This record gives sequence, structure tokens and C-alpha cells, in this order.
Amino acid sequence: MKPRKTLIAANWKMHKLVHDAVVYVKQLQQEAGVFDDREVLLAPPFTALPAVRIVMERNDFKLGAQNCHWEEQGAYTGEISCGMLKDAGCDYVLVGHSERRHIFGETDDMIRRKVNAAFKHKITPVLCIGEVLEEREAGKTLQVLEDQLKQAVTGLTPALAEQLVVAYEPVWAIGTGKTATPETAQEAHGFIRKQLAAMFDKGVANAVRILYGGSVKPDNVDALMARPDIDGLLVGGASLEVASFKRIVHYQVAGGKN
Ligand code: PEP
Repeated sequence: MKPRKTLIAANWKMHKLVHDAVVYVKQLQQEAGVFDDREVLLAPPFTALPAVRIVMERNDFKLGAQNCHWEEQGAYTGEISCGMLKDAGCDYVLVGHSERRHIFGETDDMIRRKVNAAFKHKITPVLCIGEVLEEREAGKTLQVLEDQLKQAVTGLTPALAEQLVVAYEPVWAIGTGKTATPETAQEAHGFIRKQLAAMFDKGVANAVRILYGGSVKPDNVDALMARPDIDGLLVGGASLEVASFKRIVHYQVAGGKN
């Protein structure tokens, strides 16, 4: 089985002016080790994408957007298409982040269209799925994950599906300081991989990278990354400062990850 390349992603949300973004990226590139077993993905706000692209010099650093629209162009005031993201140099795009689903009312159908639009432009979608607290407490977590995953990937060919990145982000853990335990996260990740095998095949399931997101911090990163089905992380708050994100990028797993 081909090892899955670790992906450590920073979601800056609605933070950082262009200048601050550029200073951050230059500093992180200088201070972080150079990796061949992991990729570092930075997802700044739209306004900083072109400037970050210009200063991003390393092959192990990738550029991502936090959202996209599924149409190519048209009368969609305030929206950004995947063609525009490609033009700005994006390699990845976050799709279906819980803040998009719950604050801005994104539906599973919109999310499926966004996944398809990203692939069409050779941008890798990072599909975010996860349960809210009431769903977890009602024992519905796995059902929610299955539904959200299925609805987003319906119609994809296995060749595209294996390029997908999935981020398991329990909504109760995002920005709350309550991280899922490594066991809880592994259970969800193992389940997602099993669902991918059932929806496509084992090759797809083994290829897809599944990230964990939800209050990842320097002091919990090593234990999370030690789990076999946790292939990387999606980091919000702790990605805003170079020092803490650098420590996360430098996670350590005894004996190596793969
Ligand atoms: C996120 O925004 O995807 C996230 C996981 O945020 P935080 O790390 O702050 O919980």
C-alpha cells in the first residue's frame, strides 16, 4: 500500500491582512524544516491569496482557499469560482466547512457541486464533515458522517475520489478548546475509510487522506497523529501564530507515521 502523504492545513478563516499573511509565510518557510513526507497547506482569506502565492517558494507548501462557488462565472455577487481560484494559484479548496454549513446555510447539494467544480479545475477539495454536539449525544455521529460523505461524493469516479481529502471536524470541537480524544477521532476516521471502501473500493479508501480538525494544539498534535487513520490536521486558531503552527507541522510520532 502506498503511504499517504501527511497534510497539515492552516485555516486562517477571516484573519490577517495581506501584509501580515506575507510576513507569516516568509517566517514559516524560513523556520520550518523541509519535508518530503508531509505537505503544509495554508488557506488565507481570498484577499491574501495572490500575495501569498508570490512568496510561497517551497514545494512542500501548498496554497488553498476557504470556499468556492460551483459555477464558472455569472451573476453571483460576492462569490469566487474555482477557475478564479486556479488563476490565483490555489492547489486546494476547503469545501463544506462547518461554519459554511451552519452560519451560511450551505447544503449537501451545494457541497457536492463545489467538490465537482474543484476537481474540474484540478484543485483538490478538502471536504469537511462532522457532527454537532446534539447529534453525538443522540448517538447519531456515524450516521451523520455517512450521510454527509455520501451526498458529497455521489457521482465521482474512483479516479477522482481517490484524490479527495476529507476532514473530520466534530463541530463541538471547533474553536472550543474541546479536542476529540485520539480514540474518538480514530473511530470516526476508521469509519469514514470503511465507508469510502463501500462506496468505491479499497484502493480509493486507502488513498484518501483523512484529516482531523477541532482545537488541534501543540500539546495534543503528537497523540492525534499517532493514530493510523489520521493522515493530517486542519487547524484554525492554533495556525494563526507561526510558533504554534510550526510546532504542529513538526508533529512527532515514535517510529514514524507510515
Ligand atoms: C477549523 O476552523 O477548521 C478548526 C478546526 O478550528 P480550530 O482549530 O480553531 O478548532
